[in-house]
Amino acid sequence: MTLLAIETSCDETSAAVVRDGKVLSNVVSSQIKLHAEYGGVVPELAAREHLKNLLPVAQAALSEAGISSLQLDAVAATQGPGLGIALLIGFKAAQSVAFALNKPFLGINHHEAHLYSPWIQIASPLPLGGDRAGVRGGDLTVEHSPFNIQHPTSKMAAGPPVPSMLSVECSALNVFQKPRSSPSLPLSSEGRWKPVLQADFTSFQPNLSLIVSGGHTMLVLVESDLKHRVLGGTIDDAAGECFDKTGKLMGLAYPAGPIIDQLAEQGNPKAYDFPRPLLHDANDDFSFSGLKTSVRYFIRDHPALLDDRKRICDLCASVQAAIVEVLVKKTIRAAKREGVRCITASGGVTCNRGLRTELERVCKQNGFTLRLAEKNLCTDNAAMIGILAERKLMAKMPLPALSEEIQPAWQLA
Ligand code: ADP
Ligand code: MG
Repeated sequence: MTLLAIETSCDETSAAVVRDGKVLSNVVSSQIKLHAEYGGVVPELAAREHLKNLLPVAQAALSEAGISSLQLDAVAATQGPGLGIALLIGFKAAQSVAFALNKPFLGINHHEAHLYSPWIQIASPLPLGGDRAGVRGGDLTVEHSPFNIQHPTSKMAAGPPVPSMLSVECSALNVFQKPRSSPSLPLSSEGRWKPVLQADFTSFQPNLSLIVSGGHTMLVLVESDLKHRVLGGTIDDAAGECFDKTGKLMGLAYPAGPIIDQLAEQGNPKAYDFPRPLLHDANDDFSFSGLKTSVRYFIRDHPALLDDRKRICDLCASVQAAIVEVLVKKTIRAAKREGVRCITASGGVTCNRGLRTELERVCKQNGFTLRLAEKNLCTDNAAMIGILAERKLMAKMPLPALSEEIQPAWQLA
């Protein structure tokens, strides 16, 4: 089955073509630079960008996959949750394509797709001596400067925003150089090595899945393929939001998560002691707004700290350590209680190196299998939407009416 998937739930316009569990293309146009000057996603701007970019992104996905729209067997799109006016654009466009081609259409829950994204892995061999983390696509769509620090008291309060950088970044996965060691690997039209992403459900196990992003933090028990149960979620801010908002208090650019990640590498995680909210509560819920408030008061009481790069790095490392400890300990505890031996993680915050390293360490220590989503599949992408949609269609799940509407507040049950 060859399927076109569209994702426009927030600030990334993405289209992917999947066939028989393989990702033939996954094109992502990120709007991060556009929203950065406003310190967060502006829904109207996001919608305008999706409108502008959807067609070129979808065309790039088809051309990257080497197919025409007439070869499609099905179409899918993110139906929710997400920003209403952003979702609407991708969802209605995808429905229209399905209608025009007279092919099945499936609306997909963005979070349900996250549950299966860790099962999509790079299937091709990697270059000799290559740094695996470095060849994953996640860092390629967005460029963050770790040293773009503005002090909140001075520059953040300044007048009109700087002119926006509106350039569209269409980043397909074929950006890697062909490895010298593997001449038989598939090449893109530009003669570059094309890594193959493939869903491997043969090794699927019941798992405890951590979804951790800018808008959501949740623990889900995935009992079997296509069957899950939400165990807990955030009662206020999501972990990504906590990274972004505490970073803003430090004067870091939006989104601050990746910047804190980089600065934390050079800092001492034990330098400052921040609360670990709900760590010892019996439930599987999370809460990060108290941590954000405590960072706010800490900075208010130590304003000189922001003039010292070393202490900013310590602050980043300490905040990251608090977030990571809560996420990892609660995930492991839930997995032990539910009796599953496999842990998966996905969502933008799963790019965080501190979180990845700690999950790896603790899973090894406790004998758990760990599957982390590839970095380019952690943030919003259509590949995971397509893989889940194809899986549902293959399982002959009932097709909804083509007149279905978006569900911006669609909760995973
Ligand atoms: P959403 O669509 O809910 O906004 P995404 O899955 O697109 O979430 O992820 C974006 C979030 O992930 C942002 O809050 C961003 O700061 C966070 N993020 C991305 N990379 C990192 C990182 N390396 N460390 C911490 N947070 C990160
Ligand atoms: Mg996003």
